[in-house]
Amino acid sequence: LNPDFASRLAFRDDRQMLTYGDIASAAYTNHLKLEEDFRVEKTIKSTKKTLHGKRIGIFTSHDVSFVISLWSTWLSGGIAVPLGISHPEPQLEYFLKNSDTSVILCSTDTQEKAAKIAKACGAEILPVVPTVSADSNAGALREKILPLAPEADDKALILYTSGTTGQPKGVLWKHGALAGQVESMVDSWAWSPQDTLLHVLPLYHLHGLINCLLTPLACGAAVWMDKEFQAAEVWRKLLSKDKQRVSVFMAVPTIYVKLLDYYHANRQQMPSPEEVHRICLAKMRLMVSGSAPLPNTVFRAWKDLTGHELLERCGMTETGMILGNPLNGPRIPGTVGVPFPKVTARLVPTPAEKPVEVPPAPPAASKSFLGLKTKPKEPSKEAAALPVAEATEPSVPTGELQVTGPNMFTAYWNNEKATRESFSEDGWFRTGDTAELRDGVYRLLGRTSSEIIKSGGYKISALSVERRVHEHPDVAECAVFGVPDETWGEKIVCLIKPKPSATALTAGRDEKELTKVVGKFVAEALPPYTAPREVRLVEELPRNAMGKISKKELSKGYVKAQQ
Ligand code: ATP
Ligand code: MG
Repeated sequence: LNPDFASRLAFRDDRQMLTYGDIASAAYTNHLKLEEDFRVEKTIKSTKKTLHGKRIGIFTSHDVSFVISLWSTWLSGGIAVPLGISHPEPQLEYFLKNSDTSVILCSTDTQEKAAKIAKACGAEILPVVPTVSADSNAGALREKILPLAPEADDKALILYTSGTTGQPKGVLWKHGALAGQVESMVDSWAWSPQDTLLHVLPLYHLHGLINCLLTPLACGAAVWMDKEFQAAEVWRKLLSKDKQRVSVFMAVPTIYVKLLDYYHANRQQMPSPEEVHRICLAKMRLMVSGSAPLPNTVFRAWKDLTGHELLERCGMTETGMILGNPLNGPRIPGTVGVPFPKVTARLVPTPAEKPVEVPPAPPAASKSFLGLKTKPKEPSKEAAALPVAEATEPSVPTGELQVTGPNMFTAYWNNEKATRESFSEDGWFRTGDTAELRDGVYRLLGRTSSEIIKSGGYKISALSVERRVHEHPDVAECAVFGVPDETWGEKIVCLIKPKPSATALTAGRDEKELTKVVGKFVAEALPPYTAPREVRLVEELPRNAMGKISKKELSKGYVKAQQ
């Protein structure tokens, strides 16, 4: 909320272009309205911010009304709780009740749903005034806004985690840590006021909010917002010869997949690959992927089409950005690079577990489990001789990724127990992800709780197996997870969405055959015990708005479907 940028272009969509001054001025107008309407606690009236520390929900469309709401919340000293307008009502009510939100800012098109959820939670709504006040005179604005600027130690945000491994947790951020995050991204990715970011991600998630909105706005760059992600629109903007050129794009892997699919499905109407290459290289300076694993095949396909190597990085709602491939230097597909500035990372080996016995020989076609008619494969002599280990060479450091640094969250909201448990005894944040460090760069192996499959005495990384399955020419998408199994402890299951052009992995194929084809393909590159024991074809994989798949839910659903 830097009034010094007052005359600089901050925001655009297809209808309007607004300067920082315009938005700050609108935010100030709404701040006054907030104060007037919700001067609820007379006792704190004497402080300059009567809404100090109150939770204020933000439930607006994906446009400038979100920015205006956020800034007016902060001018009023409130803690912003960004909410997803497409979330189901029970989920929204959980967020509102959990955060004890008393006021919800909304826009005209979200007002009806806002009123409904507000009523259910005893909150009140305030439609934000989207119009820009005439008074956006930089000097006057500065004087009004600067005294209201938050302090580093003021609470700024509650963001909910994606709920991939359980119930979403509210993550409290203070202004100082947010500023530190932004600074670290500006430095790492060389943000400048000349940049324009094309924004298509949800604003209730760290990726869309901190990386794609707060960072450009804090450094004087412009943000161009699409109301929702549409592949045709994104291509139009990426390839347009518009004067306000898009220079930065950030997305989750599924968005890159959808863009590639759209390009190939509409090949006749799209510029040639040479032309796409030429335009993208000329106008874009940075394209980032994160929030979920980026398949190597997508990295390569994107590079072939646009000339850009996607910069893959890893972050969390609790920690912000922690690891990333370099801005300048080789970006290695399948890895998440090195720690961001001021982040220190370590790998802590999981305490030795009681090894699951490798069965001497699988019981002869014992019983058909989950409809699988094939006999469990006997571990090869070579595999059976290996010690209990990750599916990597023992010399590669592997373990739980733990991080520490000054720019992290403060605590889980209203959940001391979870906060306590998420830190190690010596104060490091436990990410819950297992990773390895090879040749100086980190590679994620999966969520410790649901993606490190314990099968036949081995610990197998679901993400490593997925990376390999993705290399099969028939595979569009895949998900690997474990299901309980009497013989193996856990059995590796792989769901595959085949490409329309698939020849080997097709619906007509017997499951036994599919398992054989995929198993053989995996075992050509990875240890034989990592080969999936059950392979099924699916039309779609269940992903949330950030392109994440809950392996826990998938495993549970899979087992249930077989019963
Ligand atoms: P919950 O904590 O509620 O289970 P979540 O962990 O998915 O949900 P987020 O904070 O949105 O919620 O996501 C952080 C997680 O996303 C990381 O712990 C990591 O597992 C995953 N992640 C982030 N970036 C990447 C990446 N580049 N590759 C693979 N996984 C990633
Ligand atoms: Mg998490």
